[in-house]
Amino acid sequence: MTKYIVVTGGVMSGLGKGITAASIGRILRDIGYRVVPIKVDPYLNIDAGTMNPFQHGEVFVLKDGTEVDLDLGHYERFIGVEVTGEHNVTTGKIYMSVLEKERKGEYLGSTVQIIPHITDEIKNWIRGVAKKTNAEICLVEIGGTVGDIEGMSFLEAIRQMHNEESEEDFVLVHVTLVPLDSGGEQKTKPTQHSVKELRSLGLHPDVIVGRCKERLLPSTKKKIALFCDVPAEAVISAHDAEEIYEVPLIFKEEKLDEYLIKKLKLERRSDDKTWDEMVKKLKTLDREVTIAVVGKYVHVKDAYISIREALKHGGIYSGCKVNMILIDSEELERFEDFQFDVDGILVPGGFGHRGSEGKILAITYARENDIPFLGICFGFQLAVVEFARNVLGLENANSSELSDTPHPVIDLLPEQREIDKMGGTMRLGDIEVTLKKGTIVYQLYNRDKIYERHRHRYEVNPEYIPEFENAGMVFSGYSDNGRRMECLELPSKRFFVATQFHPEFKSRPYSPSPPFAGFVKSALEYSLENR
Ligand code: GLN
Repeated sequence: MTKYIVVTGGVMSGLGKGITAASIGRILRDIGYRVVPIKVDPYLNIDAGTMNPFQHGEVFVLKDGTEVDLDLGHYERFIGVEVTGEHNVTTGKIYMSVLEKERKGEYLGSTVQIIPHITDEIKNWIRGVAKKTNAEICLVEIGGTVGDIEGMSFLEAIRQMHNEESEEDFVLVHVTLVPLDSGGEQKTKPTQHSVKELRSLGLHPDVIVGRCKERLLPSTKKKIALFCDVPAEAVISAHDAEEIYEVPLIFKEEKLDEYLIKKLKLERRSDDKTWDEMVKKLKTLDREVTIAVVGKYVHVKDAYISIREALKHGGIYSGCKVNMILIDSEELERFEDFQFDVDGILVPGGFGHRGSEGKILAITYARENDIPFLGICFGFQLAVVEFARNVLGLENANSSELSDTPHPVIDLLPEQREIDKMGGTMRLGDIEVTLKKGTIVYQLYNRDKIYERHRHRYEVNPEYIPEFENAGMVFSGYSDNGRRMECLELPSKRFFVATQFHPEFKSRPYSPSPPFAGFVKSALEYSLENR
């Protein structure tokens, strides 16, 4: 039997509903339950693959290759699970499925309507995922804010589920904002309004999480409890934390675990302290390193969120706080000469010509000054281009994605060219990579077969590989029986490593991604030597 915890948001977006839901998942996981997350995105897109990072922040890639909203990344990091595309429900997917059934005549001639057909599809989807994954607790986050037109059919489906499930199998958590007025008083009116809105849709919250700059006062909680008709112990303070990983600890302090145990009739099967210990370590780091991330989406808050988190994980492991600074690669192109006062340089994934020359300049700088370097995906490809131009002397070498070049050192493989003719698609998700013994990556992963997530179309052009290897570049990981290069390193440098895959997506705070752990460790050593 699955129990459901549904998380909705009120007042405004950007309250950290995803972190709240992920933290609830973590505290229940820690007492021994199998928690399975589902994120509902009420937009019409089928998935996030075609969405622009300038608008939405990072696109997170799941193991099955589905491209999703970055909240799924929080779930994977907090709860420690790996989910598939089915765990991301969008309006587009629901309608597509209903319309396909309609075309096949599955509705037997009846009029197909939002209620019951769309709402049934939503409920079946959620229950289907819970069943398939053997979820003891299914955590469903409804994206957007209560009252948005897009979210209505989902909230109606949730209302029906609330009625259909028994009291002890369903909890509705509503996340709202408690602002401070100019005198510093905690104001409950926005919360009252948003709960009213929820009620007008037939939903009644069981728990109210109040996001506030400061801890909610007992009097504020009392007032919310009174006006919103929940017990005072079900009003939870989610005050600003220095560090998002502290939120599960705050919820334990607020006794949210106890309330959920009581309401859902759970038991404390275990008391896992891995998370708590990780946070303790994170809060007492006494050294610091600065890493420059050179990219195109530097003005978008969440564009490099998994990279930032993976760096942080590497820092917890190596014993240092990581300050990540974003450098606009297009800006770099305008300088004749520049200097980076940093301990490491990371060039992340990316697409298209804009800013690519600036990224190449940053790679040259890292290589020539022997500053720890990590390249990811596009960063891997540009490290190949940089080496071709500046070490092999192949003039105007480039990726054929970026320009017409006499030396397409990064190019499409023939089969990718075929796929591209049919409309273009990427190589996505978990793919087995073989690491060569005696290399840095082998040492970091400590095994020869790894599975990492991919999102790319271009590859190292096989024709040039011997030339690269003769000049000292080692392709230390490969896939597809050696046809595709997956990792590169320069053994003559202190740490110069790049990967075609995206290791950041599998990094966890208590178990860092090996390339990130190695990179940050090297940056720390560099800073101790040079500062
Ligand atoms: N644009 C490159 C490609 O398609 C790299 C993609 C990426 O960095 N995710 O292969």
